[in-house]
Amino acid sequence: MKTFCGRANPTTGSMEWLEEGEDYDYHQEIARSRYADMLHDKDRNVKYYQGIRAAVSRVKERGEKAIVLDIGTGTGLLSMMAASAGADFCYAIEVFKPMANAAVKIVEKNGFSDKIKVINKHSTEVTVGPDGDMQCRANILVTELFDTELIGEGALPTYEHAHKYLVQEGCEAVPHRATVYVQLVESRRMWSWKKLFPVHVEAEDGEKILVPPSEMENCPGVPSVCDIQLNQMPSSDFSTLSDVVTMFSVDFSKPVQSASTYYRVQLEPVKSGKAQIVLSWWDIDMDPSGMINCTMAPYWVKPTSALQWRDHWMQCVYFLPREEPVLQGEKLYLTACRDEYSVWYSLQKAREGESKADEEEHKADVPVESPVCRCRAHLLWNRPRFGELNDQTRTRQYIKSLRKVLKTDSVCLCISDGSLLPVLAHYLGAKQVQCMQPSRIDLYHPHEFFKANHLEDKIKIIEARPELLKPSHLEDKKISVLVGEPFFTTSLLPWHNLYFWYARTAVSPHLASNVTVLPQSASLHMMIVEFQDLWRIRSPCGTCEGFDVQTMDDMIKNSLNFRESKEAEPHPLWEYPCKSLSDPQEVLTFDFTKTVPQHCLSTEGSVKLLRKGKSHGAVLWMEYHLAADISLSTGLMQLSDEQGNCEWNPHCKQAVYFFSSVIESEIQSDPTAVTYAIKFDTKTGEIAMDFKL
Ligand code: SAH
Repeated sequence: MKTFCGRANPTTGSMEWLEEGEDYDYHQEIARSRYADMLHDKDRNVKYYQGIRAAVSRVKERGEKAIVLDIGTGTGLLSMMAASAGADFCYAIEVFKPMANAAVKIVEKNGFSDKIKVINKHSTEVTVGPDGDMQCRANILVTELFDTELIGEGALPTYEHAHKYLVQEGCEAVPHRATVYVQLVESRRMWSWKKLFPVHVEAEDGEKILVPPSEMENCPGVPSVCDIQLNQMPSSDFSTLSDVVTMFSVDFSKPVQSASTYYRVQLEPVKSGKAQIVLSWWDIDMDPSGMINCTMAPYWVKPTSALQWRDHWMQCVYFLPREEPVLQGEKLYLTACRDEYSVWYSLQKAREGESKADEEEHKADVPVESPVCRCRAHLLWNRPRFGELNDQTRTRQYIKSLRKVLKTDSVCLCISDGSLLPVLAHYLGAKQVQCMQPSRIDLYHPHEFFKANHLEDKIKIIEARPELLKPSHLEDKKISVLVGEPFFTTSLLPWHNLYFWYARTAVSPHLASNVTVLPQSASLHMMIVEFQDLWRIRSPCGTCEGFDVQTMDDMIKNSLNFRESKEAEPHPLWEYPCKSLSDPQEVLTFDFTKTVPQHCLSTEGSVKLLRKGKSHGAVLWMEYHLAADISLSTGLMQLSDEQGNCEWNPHCKQAVYFFSSVIESEIQSDPTAVTYAIKFDTKTGEIAMDFKL
């Protein structure tokens, strides 16, 4: 089946029709899947194996046959563990067809075909009975259906159904239980992902303070979970206001209810401060006694030596609906509400001399509604973007550059999504300021923002795409200063923001002959790196706990090479430490003072590997040259130290191109080099690259 999907090209902005058949979807899903990461998660695998062995033994000790139901079998791994542990029969359920097919192959290759039946269905479609998918109900329930938020992948409704229809009463479950932990913290850094802080601008006529509209101030934000590698958050970036508290647990061996509910715990702050954030993670006990425990606890809670790196399970950051000042030792209640798929938090203060009965009364205060953005800004700006807008060092660079180029008679047009630049340009004295947010006019209208700062008459919003700009939009004036951050919500890879160049080209007829374009140019930079851990997500596994899973490796490799188009992928590298093996190198430049050329921009060359290490891939990022000596990097912030450690822009994702084979460089001998060919196709806006080691 072939379908054609229309979408705006993120770089060129033009509409294009892409052929997106079933094949395309599934190759994307496999290529970017977390299966490899799960198979590399030694801690998880070992503990599942221990838990499964223990559950099979308990059933056998009761003199029963061990019949296993493995929901979401993936590669078949957990069923193979059960069969090896002596289970009599396993029903391995997998809804995703390509995975179910792979599971059949892997099970066969490992010699378990007579013990494991792979069923390509969603578990809620599975039937039990003499003619059913399963002959009888199972007495061991094995699953791994958890995401970073525990329940986001639908574990609760799946368990609820399985207990009703697929397993026996009193069955053994692996894992046996999950527990969610929380800790209340104050963190300017994390709070800056949800709120817009006032921006201070030193203008000609005194200091101006830009404030967000009250609707944005009081907005609860979006419900989607904020999952991050909390282990990369330095302890100096937050302050813990409470101990770690158990929020709730789920016993998977008993009937599970998925209906919305809430849990409440009492807290006493260990320190006074501003309660802003709830950090959360979970652990699973593979057995009833809790001896086999697999935890996502961050570094300050558990010894660093016990940390297992994984990307399929991380930690959660929840934003309280509003900031709440709390005092050390005062009595607080933290409430977790959940529906079938997500969790959200609120904080209540206990009133003076409160009794148990009063506590009951609090229940009426519980916000049962999940957070929904009312100000619409949270729909336009994702969390890293909020962080970026709140980055004062960055804002100062723009202010400094704008000051250099703006004059009192400047006619300024700003092209960027949800940008502060129009306001800055106005404060810094431009005569006429207009703005255009090409990709998402529908999502968020900056009018409210301008109004909150009494600028609604001063800054005009042009609701047209760049190619439809008319002289009347500009009051028949020519643009003397064209600015952009550039930032567009449609960008996934760093170079997608080159859309600014295409927009600049489209508005060319409206530019004054001596126009200033800010940024004046951009450049693409590259560096060869060795990842501390990120390499695992794209690296073959071979065998996992003694089971041959090469079929899975081959399948991923095949999907990565689908249409022979290996691509760079976006990753926020502040979360994924790496070591530079080469110097950073500028590979392409894009001159915004000119229009986009007809021909492709390409370059070839080689980079020397200066340090000993494994070349896992190349990292690429953009730098914007705002004015003569002012540049902003969306990638490397700080040149690596002696050991090659690097500091990355905390608000941006960088592009990572994983090499298909890894080379180990030994600089003592001949320094090795990596040759590259990089081509920017100005028609498609895509960057193709090839590396030879
Ligand atoms: N059990 C494997 C894979 C876990 S990933 C392992 O531990 O390595 C979870 C898998 O469950 C995915 O392949 C997903 O497609 C599948 N899945 C999730 N919910 C399901 C359901 N209700 N029924 C069947 N498969 C499900």
